[in-house]
Amino acid sequence: MNLIFLGPPGAGKGTQAKMLAEKLGVPQVSTGDLLRAAKQQKTSLGIEAEKFMSAGQLVPDELVIAMIRERLEKEDCQNGFILDGFPRTLPQAEALEKTLKDVGAIVDHVLDLEVDSEEVVKRLSGRRQCSACQENFHIDFKPSKKEVCDRCGAQLIQRDDDKESVIRKRLEVYRQQTKPLVGYYQDKALLKSIVGRGSINDIFQNVLKAVQ
Ligand code: AMP
Repeated sequence: MNLIFLGPPGAGKGTQAKMLAEKLGVPQVSTGDLLRAAKQQKTSLGIEAEKFMSAGQLVPDELVIAMIRERLEKEDCQNGFILDGFPRTLPQAEALEKTLKDVGAIVDHVLDLEVDSEEVVKRLSGRRQCSACQENFHIDFKPSKKEVCDRCGAQLIQRDDDKESVIRKRLEVYRQQTKPLVGYYQDKALLKSIVGRGSINDIFQNVLKAVQ
């Protein structure tokens, strides 16, 4: 099954995509994680992407599309995948469709997690991420037991783009560039809207219902 999670930054796409990926036994493919890994490894893509990411802007389509094509060609994606953070623009959605068509595949469902802007600011400004394994924590909703990552023990950091001014910029970018995808996938009868408020498990039950 090939699935897409849509929704503003901070909607819980990463959390829900990870849970669903484990349940379905297919990989979660997060463009944000791939770009952060490239940034950490100081590849030419990472160095270029960093300028856009730290300003809360989108990385140019051609870079992200090339990166995702390469990722989706890998063996582990051949039986399905869950996209988290891609596509984020209409050209990206069209490129994905073309890539899948070339191998006789389609998008099965698009899950749109709905969360309002003030909730997003509250969630993201309290988010902390492991500097090594990228596990997410939250100072109020999911605090780490110690001051470090509960999973691997590395230091927790606040992402540069989780500072409030950058969050507001990311929300604006979402409204202008990504929100039109809701209508795009609605027209293709692929969109399932899911209320992104409530406990992580309640939301996950609604995610499961949407894909069954
Ligand atoms: P995320 O972890 O999904 O919130 O992504 C973090 C940042 O990576 C975004 O604010 C963008 O700068 C960049 N990014 C991630 N996915 C994409 C994408 N599909 N297109 C362009 N930029 C992206």
